[in-house]
Amino acid sequence: MEKKRIYFFDEGSAEMKQLLGGKGANLAEMKRIGLPVPPGFTITTEVCREYYAVGGRLPDGLEEEIVEAMHRLEKEAGAKFGDPENPLLVSVRSGAPISMPGMMDTILNLGLNDETVKGLAKQTNNERFAYDSYRRFIMMFSDVVRGVDRQLFEEALEEIKKKYGAKTDADVPAEGMKELAERSKEIYKEQLGEDFPQDVWKQLIMAVDAVFRSWNNERAILYRKINNIPDDMGTAVNIVKMVFGNMGDDSATGVAFTRNPSTGEKELYGEYLVNAQGEDVVAGIRTPKPVKELKNDIPQAYDELVRVAEILEKHYRDMQDMEFTIEKGKLYMLQTRTGKRTAAAAVKIAVDMVKEGLITKEEAIMRVTPEQIETLLHKRIDPSAEKTLIAKGLPASPGAATGSVVFDTEEAVKLAEQGKKVILVRPETTPDDLHGMVASQGILTSRGGMTSHAAVVARGMGKPAVVGCEEIDIDMENEQFAAPNGKVYKKGDIITIDGSTGEVFEGEVPLIDPQLSGEFKELLDWADEIRVLGVYANADNPEDAAKAREFGAEGIGLARTEHMFLGPERVQIVQRMIMADTSEERREALKDLGKLQKADFKGILEAMDGLPVTIRLLDPPLHEFLPAPEELAEEIRKLEDEGAPAEVIEEKKKLYHKAVELAEHNPMMGFRGCRLGLIYPEIYEMQVEALMEAAAELKKEGKNPIVKIMHPLVGHVNEMKRLREMTDRVAFQVLDREGVDLKYKVGTMIEVPRAALTAYQIAEYAEFFSFGTNDLTQMTFAFSRDDAEGKFLAKYVEEGILPKNPFIVLDRDGVGRLIKIAVTDGRKTRADLDVGICGEHGGNPESIEFCHIVGLDYVSASPYRVPVARLAAAQAAVKHPKK
Ligand code: PEP
Ligand code: MG
Repeated sequence: MEKKRIYFFDEGSAEMKQLLGGKGANLAEMKRIGLPVPPGFTITTEVCREYYAVGGRLPDGLEEEIVEAMHRLEKEAGAKFGDPENPLLVSVRSGAPISMPGMMDTILNLGLNDETVKGLAKQTNNERFAYDSYRRFIMMFSDVVRGVDRQLFEEALEEIKKKYGAKTDADVPAEGMKELAERSKEIYKEQLGEDFPQDVWKQLIMAVDAVFRSWNNERAILYRKINNIPDDMGTAVNIVKMVFGNMGDDSATGVAFTRNPSTGEKELYGEYLVNAQGEDVVAGIRTPKPVKELKNDIPQAYDELVRVAEILEKHYRDMQDMEFTIEKGKLYMLQTRTGKRTAAAAVKIAVDMVKEGLITKEEAIMRVTPEQIETLLHKRIDPSAEKTLIAKGLPASPGAATGSVVFDTEEAVKLAEQGKKVILVRPETTPDDLHGMVASQGILTSRGGMTSHAAVVARGMGKPAVVGCEEIDIDMENEQFAAPNGKVYKKGDIITIDGSTGEVFEGEVPLIDPQLSGEFKELLDWADEIRVLGVYANADNPEDAAKAREFGAEGIGLARTEHMFLGPERVQIVQRMIMADTSEERREALKDLGKLQKADFKGILEAMDGLPVTIRLLDPPLHEFLPAPEELAEEIRKLEDEGAPAEVIEEKKKLYHKAVELAEHNPMMGFRGCRLGLIYPEIYEMQVEALMEAAAELKKEGKNPIVKIMHPLVGHVNEMKRLREMTDRVAFQVLDREGVDLKYKVGTMIEVPRAALTAYQIAEYAEFFSFGTNDLTQMTFAFSRDDAEGKFLAKYVEEGILPKNPFIVLDRDGVGRLIKIAVTDGRKTRADLDVGICGEHGGNPESIEFCHIVGLDYVSASPYRVPVARLAAAQAAVKHPKK
């Protein structure tokens, strides 16, 4: 049997979107549930595919089917197509399965010619209206179907207006419109060398052809590419009896939302114009009125619209965006679809609808995107603000910030103390810049990727950052940077950065405060009821820990202890430790550090009292705590020039030699992680001692510290075995000495592929695994996490060599497989092995979904991403229910 190509509205339904397109399916659905829809039919998207399959023309037999359908439409409409007495006019509109607003073509008033226009005038007793419709139709048809420049018609309209002394289109009298219609036909002939088609059937077939053709116009192709819409989906064509909103003061046209799309408030929201056609609303010639005023203008139609809006919302169980026209007091619905909304509205509508019994909590969870949650947690750029883009880098840490440009960390601190807002701009940041970062509103670097120091630390602080902005050229010496267009920005100049998009703007751009509402909290509480994955936070200090807890974190998944080694006075002690010639000297320095660490640990454990806190022992290579050799060489040169005392120069030289000695060609694969702890056991011993002392003190104070000690970068079971012995030995000593009974866990990060592959061995000595997916991604791909993104990774993604940046979205095929192996094998050895993820992926929704599927116990995200992770984990649970 031949495939059915045409569906009348009473033959379709909302489920048939793929076949009938969004507009056609929803018109059919409205008809099906008894709402006022003008009669019409839809030519399917399959026909569009056929159209292209046969080389871009209407497939055989379609024309006859359209004619047949038109005869049925004539019966339903009580008018005849091309009839001079009682003409049927139609609109011909595109409508793809996925909405592509404004991308394809539409033709209104089709069916008018020199004869039918007279009929329309007589019938409506309105000559001006009839000829206005006719000249609009000629213009639209010429433009859409034959590609004649619309401007020519606009110019003709201007001439007519001048001739009749009309200020606006509405002031042009019937005579003028008649003249304009004639003139429009002339333009058509001048441009195309043929008469404007008077045969309405010919008009119709040409219009259908044009709509199918518009599926492949340039802007539609581009729109599909940007929005990942498949090219072979095709558009449907809807042919609908025209209803007129421009038939007098009891007629109108407009758009309305069933709820306020920017606040989510439950109220009919939208605008309309009395005595107008759809285009007039869009054209902005007249200012539309708020839809509530329709109550005064055309009361019975307003009541009907309210009734229809309620029915539609109940029926679709979501906020609707509707198009309507009122013809002589009677309401017609021309379209309905799910309405777009702001993040705040999305949350409010989802929560309200659960309370109204319209949707379930699970559905509410699925209706808000993690990105929307994200935007609610940060200051953002006022969307209506005017702005000048300077450059674009990586969106490393979301939120927007404004401040004056500062290149020097100390200066950033100084200015902040004076109450100034600054943006720290540097080629990249190092642990030395930490206090400058704390003091700044935001961070901009020209180098580094999404897991660079600046990115990780900024995210941890919830501070906006744009990193790897290679387009700017930073001149540290003269304290200025050059934008790609050559413009130079000096110290003190104001800029605004948007860490959610990676954009850098000139001057101060107005910002909007985060919107946290009661509904927001409620939605996240529901997410907690639904999710299976635990949500922890990566936090290194009591303030961040408290923030994370406030945002719903159930523990700390990663406290990077090296961050506690920073700050001017601490770095000095660390340097003393590094420079020590003897073990005694080193122990002395470590003792001082130990005291400080103990206070840090106590603060974090206290902030997270009763919840697990995972403390990772020192991880980075020691050279990170020393200035770069080049910097030191420069300082030495300066000191020598100034004739500084010999001991001072000697001291610097010693530091220089140490820095050179510690320098490595591949520091990320170098002397770092547990390798440090095994070669210099006193460092880790100090850390374990400080931690257990802090916990013991808290316990004595009646608190409930839950300690997990984590060893980084283990790759061989023997490393873990020794670390475990050391940890237990030191911990028992402390607990014994303090007379405290305290359970703690010892585990490792899985950051090296070998560790994942030998997890069954490592699990003998580790009670938990935490996947450090930053390093694991780096080591699995052999992509330097510090350089790859700036150098080639962006191009890789742009050109489709890699589908996504694996430092942001966990690579399921490679890294993911290693994780699966480690979890499965590790649990074979230790059934109660607890497993989580603490790389940056712990805050990424797609990666969280993977963690849920694999059956991890928790994900750990930066404090400001905790709410995002809570929602994403709940969405994963809804999508993949556990049996
Ligand atoms: C990791 O490697 O994923 C991790 C969390 O550790 P860091 O980023 O500190 O190397
Ligand atoms: Mg790591």
